[in-house]
Amino acid sequence: MIGGTPPARQAGTKRHIGRRFTIRILIAGGGCAGTAAALHLQRALRGRLRRGEVEITVVEPQAYFTYHPLLAEVAAGSIDPRHVVVPLRRVLPDCRVLTARITRIEHSARLALADAAGPGERPAPVELPYDILVVAPGSVSRTAPVPGLAEHGLGFSTVGDAVGLRNHVLEQLDLASATRDPALRQSALTFVFVGAGYAGVGALAELEDMARAAVRDYHNVRAEDLHWVLVEATGRILAEESPDLAAHTLGELRERGVDIRLGTTLESAADRVVALSDGSRFGARTLVWTAGVRPSPLLRETDLPLDVRGRVRCLATLQAVGPDGRALPGVWAAGDCAAVPDPTAGGAPCAPNAQHAFAQAELLARNVVVALDGGPHAPGLADYRPGPAACSTSLGPRRAVAHTRRGGRLTGRRAWWLHRARHLRRLPSAERRVRVLMDWVLGGVFSREVVSLGGMEHPRSAFEEGFEPGAGRPSDAGPDAPR
Ligand SMILES: Cc1cc2nc3c(=O)[nH]c(=O)nc-3n(C[C@H](O)[C@H](O)[C@H](O)COP(=O)(O)OP(=O)(O)OC[C@H]3O[C@@H](n4cnc5c(N)ncnc54)[C@H](O)[C@@H]3O)c2cc1C
Repeated sequence: MIGGTPPARQAGTKRHIGRRFTIRILIAGGGCAGTAAALHLQRALRGRLRRGEVEITVVEPQAYFTYHPLLAEVAAGSIDPRHVVVPLRRVLPDCRVLTARITRIEHSARLALADAAGPGERPAPVELPYDILVVAPGSVSRTAPVPGLAEHGLGFSTVGDAVGLRNHVLEQLDLASATRDPALRQSALTFVFVGAGYAGVGALAELEDMARAAVRDYHNVRAEDLHWVLVEATGRILAEESPDLAAHTLGELRERGVDIRLGTTLESAADRVVALSDGSRFGARTLVWTAGVRPSPLLRETDLPLDVRGRVRCLATLQAVGPDGRALPGVWAAGDCAAVPDPTAGGAPCAPNAQHAFAQAELLARNVVVALDGGPHAPGLADYRPGPAACSTSLGPRRAVAHTRRGGRLTGRRAWWLHRARHLRRLPSAERRVRVLMDWVLGGVFSREVVSLGGMEHPRSAFEEGFEPGAGRPSDAGPDAPR
């Protein structure tokens, strides 16, 4: 419960600074929708921001924005991890960026509570009163109570996940090469991905290509020894793509030797033995879970109107729906967390993808500016009308499937160029665009980078090895110890 709200905040009035009023805009989440909305608002309101008439605060647990569609290429080593993240303070100089997690929103008091404490630390909540709230905390992985999944499964939604997965896959090749145990070797060389959306298909395709390149340097591991398995509960892969592009992808992956199990679910992963609903059981030391998403759990800690799936119920103007069915004053939402009606799908909520998140954020910012002057029912507010689907999935170097904006479909090299151009354009930083472009140019000149830096995940381990069991500090070892 949020306590001690001053009366001015309860009324949701503007903050009074000297003789001026400042309108406080709070953006919850600095992902695709939150960062894009902040960038558009910063541009549209620059004068008012500098005069102190408006204040924008972006609250995001990371100090950076992550561009998810390029994570598969980070995992494959084609792009440096730092280049797919954008420092929020650098691109939002006129906004206040708070590196914290919002834990609760009480819109009736126009107040959010945020916490910057890390796991295990004592919470130190910060009160954030606002006049306008932009809800954009996205979604989280939808997990299932499968035995062994929590212990052995790997996620794939952050830049840390991508780097960790890359290191893990390369370490499995080292393990398979070193061991004399055939069961351990088989388990190390089996890579299972559950969920065949663009995250699962993209990651598997890129990593399969990387591992095939990596094994050329091993004297006793061959590409044919690697076993890649894609498990999907429905009857098709890439639900985001058209059926013909999904079928093309299925054919291409099967040609590359990927074992694709449709209409199949993961029953158990206990003891690193994968059991599938088709009756098969095999050892696998790599299990990647990319089986769908659910709205951010933050939404349950709010008094905002939610739909049955837990998303913020929105009008086509991206305003939250009030109890009377009209706009709830002061609340806007976009991205994976928002149930925004899609007129091209008969009014069903938009699918959770980056294309919708960016387009909604742009319209949201325009509508917020209109509502600042004209109120929540201003006649100039526009409805969200998505353009034609423009999705694409990379399947490794020079291979992809893509929809064009004019409704065309591309495969192979042309799709790959379009995929890269599209994602480069969407990255919200000119500097990062140049850096990613340079990574791609260098990747075209040199062979794949196949070094595993798994040791970086345990930076103290080499230092700790210096401690003899039961002994003091390494420098206690004697006069020869210092280097
Ligand atoms: C691996 C992967 C690959 C993908 N590939 C594609 C693709 O090829 N094409 C495509 O269209 N889509 C793709 N997507 C989906 C796309 O990335 C999402 O649909 C998009 O990011 C949604 O934008 P968003 O702003 O709603 O959420 P996000 O971009 O996830 O941003 C939400 C932000 O809110 C922050 N947040 C969460 N909780 C809180 C809180 N309590 N307080 C404050 N901040 C909070 C999070 O840290 C996050 O930064 C992919 C997703 C993944 C994971």
